[in-house]
Amino acid sequence: MEPKVLIVEDEVTLLETLEYNLQKQGYRVLTASHGRVALQLARQHTPDLILLDVMLPGMDGFELCRILRREISSPILMLTAKADEIDKIVGLEVGADDYITKPFSMRELLARVKAQLRRVRINREETDVPVVEVPKNDTLIFGNLMINIDRRELLLNDEPLHLKPKEFELLLFLARNKGMALSRDLILERVWGWTNDNSRTVDVHVRWLREKIEPEPSNAQRIITVRGIGYRFEG
Ligand code: CA
Repeated sequence: MEPKVLIVEDEVTLLETLEYNLQKQGYRVLTASHGRVALQLARQHTPDLILLDVMLPGMDGFELCRILRREISSPILMLTAKADEIDKIVGLEVGADDYITKPFSMRELLARVKAQLRRVRINREETDVPVVEVPKNDTLIFGNLMINIDRRELLLNDEPLHLKPKEFELLLFLARNKGMALSRDLILERVWGWTNDNSRTVDVHVRWLREKIEPEPSNAQRIITVRGIGYRFEG
């Protein structure tokens, strides 16, 4: 079965262009140009990926993303007219997986769509075949920190901590590779499915994570900065 993509965009020409190009790639395509209609479609059809415009009638893309994120885990790629870093950060906070700024080339968009779908497939395959360092009970324990992979739950001193989906995935990726210096590029590719990014997405998420799991976020002991490379999880 080809992946199902929901496009949410109120500019008719862009919507039609996206629909045409995605169908040409063999994807099954659903479209909506109104926030509430999009929500209904997403609930009904559970698309494998959602392309989501920010400025929409009915309900803006951020609000829609926030609601969708609680209900489905499919990647959400936001489309925005603003190259604004703030917009990008808000998008990541509400749970978007990737971000593309208008005007974009169709080639770039298709590459990002493909990367997101590939990332989901790899993660699913990894869940089916657990990697060596994951114990049978699917729990990773580092001192007072416990990551329950199946339940997607993090406990600090036995208290559950609320993590955004990407914060959890990032922590899990770092923890599974404990003691190894991981480059920002590798982290981006494995956690977000991106192959390049000039922003500080990884750094921002590491900062958020440190604020939650480090006793002293400014003097990190768990997630160590590796100069010129990226980060290393120490446990
Ligand atoms: Ca719009």
